Amino acid sequence: MNLIQKTGLETRELFLKGDITCSELVEAYLDKIKRDDGELNVFITVMEDMARAKAKELDEKREKGEPLGKMAGIVVSVKDNIAVKDVRMTCASKMLDDFVSPYDAIVTQKLKREDAILIGKVNMDEFAMGSSTKYSYYGVTKNPVDPTRVSGGSSGGSAASVAAEFCAISLGTDTGGSVRQPAAFCGLVGMKPSHGSISRYGVASMANTFDQVGVLAKSVDDVEYVLSILEGSDLHDATCIGNESLQLDREKDAKSLNGLKVAIPDVFKTFEVQDEVREAFIHTVDFMKSKGAEVEFVHIGSLDLAIAIYHILVNGEIAPNMSRYDGINYGYITDNYDNIEELYVRTRSEGFGTEVKRRIMIGSYIMSMDHSKEYWEQSLEMRHKMIEEFNSVFENHDIILCPTSPTVAVPIDDDMTPVEIYMLDLFTVPVNLIGTGGISVPATKKNKLPVGIQIIPKKGNDIQAIQTAKELEGNI
Ligand code: GLN
Repeated sequence: MNLIQKTGLETRELFLKGDITCSELVEAYLDKIKRDDGELNVFITVMEDMARAKAKELDEKREKGEPLGKMAGIVVSVKDNIAVKDVRMTCASKMLDDFVSPYDAIVTQKLKREDAILIGKVNMDEFAMGSSTKYSYYGVTKNPVDPTRVSGGSSGGSAASVAAEFCAISLGTDTGGSVRQPAAFCGLVGMKPSHGSISRYGVASMANTFDQVGVLAKSVDDVEYVLSILEGSDLHDATCIGNESLQLDREKDAKSLNGLKVAIPDVFKTFEVQDEVREAFIHTVDFMKSKGAEVEFVHIGSLDLAIAIYHILVNGEIAPNMSRYDGINYGYITDNYDNIEELYVRTRSEGFGTEVKRRIMIGSYIMSMDHSKEYWEQSLEMRHKMIEEFNSVFENHDIILCPTSPTVAVPIDDDMTPVEIYMLDLFTVPVNLIGTGGISVPATKKNKLPVGIQIIPKKGNDIQAIQTAKELEGNI
């Protein structure tokens, strides 16, 4: 039996039935990590001892017939911007290279409480800014499907950890597509639920009104299962109201493909989309139609400005969020200063990478007294217009469908300009701008690179995306 190929729910069942031990399972993953992670560069920290200790504890509990949590028998990796108590949390930045988290994020607490086995902290773009993991201080994570290509980003390590069979599930974060796009690039399912579904407490903030924890796995069932555990309101995060539609057995609230009203944004017709992505998408639409879905193109005018609005608003939130990394509170401190001014400037110049600096500069400019009216306020207005436009589409449609990314995983040595890279997020950033959920489900053809198809439900109706994803999974 090849344990590491199984989904999380499958390993759990084997464990509960007594067919395998958790120790056996953890050793199988650790062996694979030892074999392949040197080449792929997925983990920043492997939590070998903790994973072994937890596995042993679970094996003993089962032996004695003690109650086991909902995650018992499932091995999980965690993006390195999510706090795990007493474990290094770097956000893939030199700034936090030796920072050890003194507490657990709420999502970590929930997983631990349900007996998940955490196997390690995985690579990402520095502070989650990027789409390739190439902006990590620890170097790029290669795509297990094709190691000459990126695994995507910013949760590239999360996607690669599941695709490389280092674990069954990974937690990522998604501010503008960082769960969905790497899932698409690595042939996995990845979902970011509606904003406010899951607590952000203990998750390093990039842009608070956009950030949301998401789950990557090999199957929609796994993703749904873990989201149902993570969902829930939280007093530590005032924007977190929970999301009942993520509880299990809500399928009755969702429509099946027969009669489903599907909208495709018409930018898809004009935007440059790679041939293999276009083909996979058209194939998906044909499949949905054959099952009785009614599909039509819709015009969403504000999408033309989505990338611009996203970068103005996100950078406006990033700049103040990054101000806490000042060399004094915590993290890296330069050893070369004579006064406080030099301490700040040198610490931040030496501690942050290029992309983070670029965003801090743009964000500070945008938020300055002289420019905030021109950029920030107008973009906020546009964000509201976009929400209204999407809401009116949802009045007559159940879901919006588009590719997750206009390209398949890009080659590692491809050197696109920052703006070219930003443009590739066209299909994912609107979801975070309007605060709804989005799931990427793989359309994987033999001998071809994976393509992700994205399903966007109305805000708070995440079960509809999950239900549709289940019907597409394995059929497209
Ligand atoms: N690629 C997007 C960006 O660079 C999204 C990042 C994210 O979702 N964390 O901003």
